[in-house]
Amino acid sequence: MEKLALAIDIGGTNCVYGIVNNDGEVMYENSVKTNSFNQTSQFIQYLKKDSFILSKISSIVGIGIGAPNGNHFSGEIQFAPNLPWEKGIIPIKKYFEEEFRLPTQLTNDANAAAEGEKLFGVAKNMKNFVVITLGTGLGSGIYINNNIVYGANGLAGEFGHIRIIPNGRNCKCGRKGCLETYASSTGIIRSFNENINELKSTSSLLNIKELTAKDIFNHAQNGDAFSNYLVNYTAEILGNALADFTSFSDPEAFILFGGIAQSGEYFRKRVAMYFNKNILNIYKNKTQILTSTLHNKNAAILGNAASVFQSLYL
Ligand SMILES: [Zn+2]
Repeated sequence: MEKLALAIDIGGTNCVYGIVNNDGEVMYENSVKTNSFNQTSQFIQYLKKDSFILSKISSIVGIGIGAPNGNHFSGEIQFAPNLPWEKGIIPIKKYFEEEFRLPTQLTNDANAAAEGEKLFGVAKNMKNFVVITLGTGLGSGIYINNNIVYGANGLAGEFGHIRIIPNGRNCKCGRKGCLETYASSTGIIRSFNENINELKSTSSLLNIKELTAKDIFNHAQNGDAFSNYLVNYTAEILGNALADFTSFSDPEAFILFGGIAQSGEYFRKRVAMYFNKNILNIYKNKTQILTSTLHNKNAAILGNAASVFQSLYL
């Protein structure tokens, strides 16, 4: 019989949810504004009335939830500042298990991405790899010896907060010089805003009103020298950081995932160049820099579904 997972990605703005089968096919997908509800229980009741979910309920083997500040071990969302539901601690795993009577997994987006790559993506045949999520911030999902690493408190993988530039940019974590203040979509905009190169004055980017990271990548590909400089600067910082990460877990590959990574080969090649330039000799030509293959599908839904299937297989 077909096995299905109900996958839910809770965000500050939208909650996306869907049904995925164990071949990684997204059979159904929908979304609702997060602030349509004041409380988690209202969202659960909303899902329970969804006619597609209802029609498939007997084939659903588990629920996978991705949420900001989601703790895999406790099953709680802990003090998520951007979530307009109950404040403080939300025991969301318990709520779903009580209402749906199905095993429920809670994880963060980087770990869900790693599970998605392992089950349905480019890491299918790998036992040691790291997914680097590049969005507003930078996250990492780490596989070692075929197991995802959660750490003692469920907080492993905060690679975005390793400090790479002494006394560098202020980070929202309260410290300075964290990787994600440079290598992320907000980081590259900060690089633009800092007047870090004389090429800036002639850049085609100066004509854009609400500049996005995507604009910078597009203009770089179209030959704008300052955009090119910014992409290169970001790639150098990231490639360097990944070279050091290799010394920790000797992965087969780093898989770049999310907004910036979608700019494709152009960025990947540069990260790989700086990575290979800075890596310790013993690792040379062993570790690949790849981009996610889940991009053209709904990566968040697939990742959360994968965490359901992974938990059942293990
Ligand atoms: Zn930080």
